[in-house]
Amino acid sequence: MKNIAKLASAVVVAGLLTTSAFGQSMKVTLLGTGTPILNINRFGISMLVEAGHQHLLFDAGRGVAMRLHQAKVPLRDVDAVFVSLMNSDHVTGLADLYASAPHPTDDGRRTAPFVMYGPDGIENVAAGLQLMLKDNNRLRLLAHETNPGAIGIQAHTIEPGVVYDKDGVKVSAFLIQHGVTEPDYGYRVEYKGHTVVITDDCTYSDNLTKNAKGADLMVQSVAIASRALEKVDMDYANHFYSYLANPDTVGKILSESKPKLAVLAHISLYSRHGIQRASMDELRSRIAEHYDGPFVIGDDLMSFVIDDSGVHQQPYNADVKFQEPG
Ligand SMILES: [Zn+2]
Repeated sequence: MKNIAKLASAVVVAGLLTTSAFGQSMKVTLLGTGTPILNINRFGISMLVEAGHQHLLFDAGRGVAMRLHQAKVPLRDVDAVFVSLMNSDHVTGLADLYASAPHPTDDGRRTAPFVMYGPDGIENVAAGLQLMLKDNNRLRLLAHETNPGAIGIQAHTIEPGVVYDKDGVKVSAFLIQHGVTEPDYGYRVEYKGHTVVITDDCTYSDNLTKNAKGADLMVQSVAIASRALEKVDMDYANHFYSYLANPDTVGKILSESKPKLAVLAHISLYSRHGIQRASMDELRSRIAEHYDGPFVIGDDLMSFVIDDSGVHQQPYNADVKFQEPG
């Protein structure tokens, strides 16, 4: 109850902000909150950060182009994509973004190169995309369904530190821990005194909490096997918990990071032996055992605005996941 009361007081549900008001703030939209595990309710991991006139995408998992469309953000408006790690669930949506944005459609008409930032290996992703779509590009040029300016890809291999600094929007990368999968980066986005921290696949590390401190909004991953599954197969659960934050670990990370508001995304829900995935109530209560600050269990197309008055969760109806944009 303590946690729920705190959440209610800390998170002010705001109405729709005007364009001019938004110009002084940041907006974060959870485009996809899922994992490699197939789930019709949770598309692949991807977050959109809007700051000033810029649209920055963090990871591009399964279905990201569809979710951008539903969020009414034309594909051509994505200025850059930041990839956390080289696992497939963070990059499988890139091909759709790269290939569909130049089309002469409402979402399309991108005329500039596709811009990506990521760990060592991002150059392989860029080369692979261009090879996969080489004949597509040739044929669509002939059909005037793309343009020469949109065919290029600028891939930037990142190191820890500031990786992007443009028109007041600064993105810094920092190393986080994900078992043998190295390097794995978290991102810190700063604009006009506001800060968003995004930490995808990871477990606890000092470097994570050090870099996450002072965030207005922190997007954090979580992995959970239900108590029922843990009871019959703890070894199975512990395999994942060795490199992904379970509810206890999430509680520890958030307790030390102390964001104004945390939102869970990249939510791994395990099932086995016919035992169902953990419910959202179980996930919420198990984190609250270790963390008494405000947090939200994220869902696809949920959004948050950060401005001088705080962090505001926007009105949300889960039905939006299944609808064409109005
Ligand atoms: Zn992942």
